[in-house]
Amino acid sequence: MSLLSLNKVEASYGPSQALFGVSLDLAEGEVVALMGRNGMGKTTTIKSICGMVHPSAGDVRFDGHDLRQLPSHKIARLGIGLVPEGRRCFGPLTVEENLTAAARPGPWDFERVAGLFPRLKERRDQTASSLSGGEQQMLAIGRALMTNPRLLILDEATEGLAPVVRQEIWAAIAQLKREAGLSILVVDKTLKELAQIADHAVILNRGQSVWTGRMEDLTPDLTDQYLGV
Ligand code: ATP
Repeated sequence: MSLLSLNKVEASYGPSQALFGVSLDLAEGEVVALMGRNGMGKTTTIKSICGMVHPSAGDVRFDGHDLRQLPSHKIARLGIGLVPEGRRCFGPLTVEENLTAAARPGPWDFERVAGLFPRLKERRDQTASSLSGGEQQMLAIGRALMTNPRLLILDEATEGLAPVVRQEIWAAIAQLKREAGLSILVVDKTLKELAQIADHAVILNRGQSVWTGRMEDLTPDLTDQYLGV
């Protein structure tokens, strides 16, 4: 049974429709990559899951709950942790304050997050605004983990980060899959890393899911058609 399932989701921003039928399934413990060129609807799909956009048609279900009309905070409480595009840490708060402010009971606490990202422990008393982009992304992931989610959603997991930091983020995501068995929905543009970590992928084109399959079945034709620049 799917932990998360979207069925023919449609969504609009005022009069302009952005999603025209997005379907995807994610089973417990699975990593699913959501792919597509810029503007094809990846972020809007994530917003439709997290309650920032309410779908006008279709179904969004998580662990048996209908998410369509729920506000974001209730969806978060059901166990969905979001690492949004642009990270959005609280700049004036310290690393530790950012993390503890998000805490909910469960196996993830400050020490465990610091084990995954030792740099956050080194910088625990620094303000979030003084961190590098990569460290802020680690903090954003750590903050989502502190909510003890059953599903972690990462929008643009490594965008704008230096190659070496990207590798650190991918290694952490791999560790979350391998050791914590976390269910993960991830958006990123780096196909190579997604191919190594994702169990399957969903490709969006013009607001529709046009292909679903295993990463190894993603042919060069498909990448050219839907992912090339
Ligand atoms: P990117 O990789 O550039 O973030 P994306 O695949 O995440 O792209 P979305 O951000 O979901 O795509 O955008 C899907 C469509 O919805 C685009 O046509 C975009 O212009 C439109 N859109 C996104 N946000 C808004 C908004 N706040 N108001 C109106 N239209 C929007």
